[in-house]
Amino acid sequence: MEWNSLSTNITTAVYYLTTNQHCHLCHAPSKNKICEYCLPYINFNESHCKQCARPTKAHHILCGHCQKNHPQQHITKTIAPFEYQDLVAHLIKAIKFQQQTHFIRTLLPYLTASIQRHYETDTWPTEIIPVPSHPKRIRQRGFCHTQLIAKLVQQHLQHKIKINSDSLIKSQYTPAQHTLKRKERLKTQKNTYQIINKVAKHIVLIDDVITTGSTVNACATELFKYGVERIDVWAFARTP
Ligand SMILES: [Zn+2]
Ligand SMILES: [Zn+2]
Repeated sequence: MEWNSLSTNITTAVYYLTTNQHCHLCHAPSKNKICEYCLPYINFNESHCKQCARPTKAHHILCGHCQKNHPQQHITKTIAPFEYQDLVAHLIKAIKFQQQTHFIRTLLPYLTASIQRHYETDTWPTEIIPVPSHPKRIRQRGFCHTQLIAKLVQQHLQHKIKINSDSLIKSQYTPAQHTLKRKERLKTQKNTYQIINKVAKHIVLIDDVITTGSTVNACATELFKYGVERIDVWAFARTP
């Protein structure tokens, strides 16, 4: 057995799969991936805009931002069960920048439950499109986190839905979004995405977190231009 060939990712994944009777965060015995003691440290996005899922004081309203920027073609529905704060922000950063991909499984049940609940009364998209990263960024990170999230979401949904990761690409290398201010983010994301293959009429974009919305909006602009009729967004978290 060549033990050196076992990557940290595989060993941690095996560890979490075989110890799934423990809390992923504090390792205390628990049937759930987050135990009852850790749960209060998680900010659930319970009251939010019905369109962009931005946390708001009143539930199911259209936030000021969506009212102001109400173009004819906009993202129809955003599902993001957590607020991007404290522990959730820490877990998402660990997934993205420290390759601690096992934390995807910690957050996953909450996202898939929200998705299942929503589409009981709405039309399911026919394709999942992971928000693409530039190949240079994927090489730096060692993996594409949105493709991995999309794959696990697909596996855990009761509804069959196909993943399309070959149609939307990021053709321009831009600085990492978290290093930029809001205005710069909105500017750099324009014209950086391109469609190179067939896309379905109703799709869902998957990302880890939605902050300003500039990334998904830049993708949506290209997809609408191509002829996509409806775009939904699924992410773990939304910035307040
Ligand atoms: Zn715990
Ligand atoms: Zn909104």
